[in-house]
Amino acid sequence: TERTLILVKPDGVRRGLAGEILRRVEAKGYRLVAVDLRTAGSDLLQEHYAEHAGKGFFAPLVDFMASGPVLAVVAEGERVIEGFRALAGTTDPTGAAPGTIRGDLGRDWGSAVQQNLVHGSDSPESAAREIALWFPTL
Ligand code: ATP
Repeated sequence: TERTLILVKPDGVRRGLAGEILRRVEAKGYRLVAVDLRTAGSDLLQEHYAEHAGKGFFAPLVDFMASGPVLAVVAEGERVIEGFRALAGTTDPTGAAPGTIRGDLGRDWGSAVQQNLVHGSDSPESAAREIALWFPTL
């Protein structure tokens, strides 16, 4: 089976949606391997989002992600990487399909960053890298 890194971003924790989001992950049948609520530092976040370094939204994204606690989660299951991204919906929450986390619970907050509630690894390579970054002892 496969593992993925999920983050409930600061907007999700602030709005009290962490439980609802975890509920959807578990209801789909994925197993929780690790969960940790913490406020991430900018070093970790810059590393996490290294592929976006240099883009206009990079600094605002790191600031937003450091603005409060995130719930970091490792989840496990058959094709969980693809499966969680399907649960999450598209990046822009306004256009995300109803039934998805972003489609049901997210909207455009008019900030420099898409405040879209969750992150999920996008490939096995990203998942391995991100899990090692957020949970070095796992
Ligand atoms: P994630 O990687 O967080 O699951 P994603 O794969 O849907 O999201 P990416 O393109 O990897 O989206 O972008 C990472 C994050 O950066 C997005 O989730 C969003 O918070 C922010 N972001 C992406 N594109 C933009 C943009 N054009 N303007 C503002 N913020 C953006």
